[in-house]
Amino acid sequence: MGTGISAVKKLELFPEKIIDLKEIGGGGFILRLPRRYDFEAGQVIGLSTRLSLEPRLYSIASGENDKELEILFTRKDDGQLTPALSGLAQGDTVYSSRPFGNYTHVTPGCFWIATGTGLAPFRSMLRSGKGKDAFFLHGARDSASFYFSEEFRESLSNRYVPCSSTGAGGCFPGRVSDWLLQADELPLDKQFYLCGRAEMVVEVRDILISKGISFKNIHAEIYF
Ligand SMILES: Cc1cc2nc3c(=O)[nH]c(=O)nc-3n(C[C@H](O)[C@H](O)[C@H](O)COP(=O)(O)OP(=O)(O)OC[C@H]3O[C@@H](n4cnc5c(N)ncnc54)[C@H](O)[C@@H]3O)c2cc1C
Repeated sequence: MGTGISAVKKLELFPEKIIDLKEIGGGGFILRLPRRYDFEAGQVIGLSTRLSLEPRLYSIASGENDKELEILFTRKDDGQLTPALSGLAQGDTVYSSRPFGNYTHVTPGCFWIATGTGLAPFRSMLRSGKGKDAFFLHGARDSASFYFSEEFRESLSNRYVPCSSTGAGGCFPGRVSDWLLQADELPLDKQFYLCGRAEMVVEVRDILISKGISFKNIHAEIYF
């Protein structure tokens, strides 16, 4: 499994001034911060709006060589952090940790499977020149929520498969789990990297195993 929360309480936080925060549709926001440290694509940072609120974890969505750090997040209306975070603007202060985490593997011809904001580590890998031969199964609620789909389509061509049960234009008309269920055969020798909410990860993992993929070839980063 991927990055745990055991370290969250102990994270050292540093004040950072927001370079930019913009809403990009589908309830998504992109936060841009100065980039102070080297990191490996797939790593996360802890982030909060005040020191008295325990940080939440966010995958870095920008590339290893990008000048700024980008975070993609959605606002949870009943959440403690994201309603406040989404109301901030350029020049406001947030508190962030150094990058950490070990969800950083990319193997030749691997399968990426993500829903919602779970695409962030894969976008970071792609922007870092990693995973150009990956196959990406990308699930979203509607066309506005296919964040960064143009970048993925441009790099991965027909190995980028958007899935939406609302049948948004050009998508597979169903969830990522439906796509996997109807797939004739999956490559048994490849690694499968899953990222998103626990319900999706558990459902997809069970389908992969039922299709003959070995448990050891399935790797997950769960957003909770
Ligand atoms: C490794 C990792 C990487 C992540 N990366 C990203 C990312 O790149 N982008 C992104 O948008 N998110 C990411 N997340 C999720 C993120 O950390 C936050 O959980 C999310 O943004 C919500 O934060 P919040 O403070 O607004 O909501 P919270 O206050 O944490 O609440 C979230 C939801 O849980 C419910 N809830 C809270 N406490 C309880 C409880 N005790 N019992 C039942 N329900 C409860 C709330 O009602 C709400 O619906 C990641 C999580 C992990 C673990």
